Amino acid sequence: MDREQGDGTLNELDENAVEAALTLVQEAGGGEVVAVTVGPPDAVDAVRRALQMGADDAVHVLDDAIAGSDALGTAAVLAAAVRRLGADAPVDLVLAGMAALDGLTSLVPAALAAELDLPALTLATSVEVDAAAGTVSVRRELDHADEMLRAALPALVSVSDRANEPRYPNFAGIMAARKKPVTVWTLADLGVDAATVGAAGARTRVLAAAPRPPRTDRVLVQDSGDAGVALAAWLVENKLA
Ligand SMILES: Cc1cc2nc3c(=O)[nH]c(=O)nc-3n(C[C@H](O)[C@H](O)[C@H](O)COP(=O)(O)OP(=O)(O)OC[C@H]3O[C@@H](n4cnc5c(N)ncnc54)[C@H](O)[C@@H]3O)c2cc1C
Repeated sequence: MDREQGDGTLNELDENAVEAALTLVQEAGGGEVVAVTVGPPDAVDAVRRALQMGADDAVHVLDDAIAGSDALGTAAVLAAAVRRLGADAPVDLVLAGMAALDGLTSLVPAALAAELDLPALTLATSVEVDAAAGTVSVRRELDHADEMLRAALPALVSVSDRANEPRYPNFAGIMAARKKPVTVWTLADLGVDAATVGAAGARTRVLAAAPRPPRTDRVLVQDSGDAGVALAAWLVENKLA
């Protein structure tokens, strides 16, 4: 993948995780939302977007040695950042999106939970925290059943895109975010050995990547008033109607 071509904006599916975090803190009447990203310089735009949505703080782990990390390396660095945050204040819940829209492995949340030795509740369509009981409950919608899972805090939850409608940052949020600093940590700050992450430490290799061949079965009908008839005829001809 050409990492230089990205625009650094927040992965759309991570907006659902930010929304869930903001809502839970609101419901609990306290707590803080810290947005964390691991990525090249323009990844800062991702956490800036989270700040605009209402996150309290942001962390950007930035180090040339992280380039070429696979999902496991990314999770290891994120875990080190979460542990570092936990040294200052307890981290009750780690929320992640359901997938990164470029790699789409849905692997990082589970790998991150394993690194942190936390229960992983993945692909949640709803998230509820019972602060008094110290638990988090999620719903997972499967093909033929809904699963209700509960785990003791601290835990990790990955939030599906069906969990909520992410808020759009308003003017006040955008202005407030300008004043919020983004903490930048290197691997050395986190005590992570550079040889264990990045291309050097990657345990998986992308062998090949090729653009999908263009579809050849497409039928384009110019509508000069009879496109509906043509479409119906095509459906009948192909036994689709
Ligand atoms: C600095 C850097 C450089 C990289 N360079 C390359 C490269 O050159 N070539 C290449 O093929 N791959 C590269 N990768 C790896 C690739 O981008 C990872 O696969 C990606 O970070 C995770 O994608 P995924 O599909 O595994 O995530 P998924 O498991 O699908 O993501 C699930 C969720 O995990 C969280 N998450 C995932 N990644 C991050 C992150 N970086 N920061 C914060 N949260 C995250 C998000 O909430 C996301 O919604 C690089 C990664 C990093 C961090």
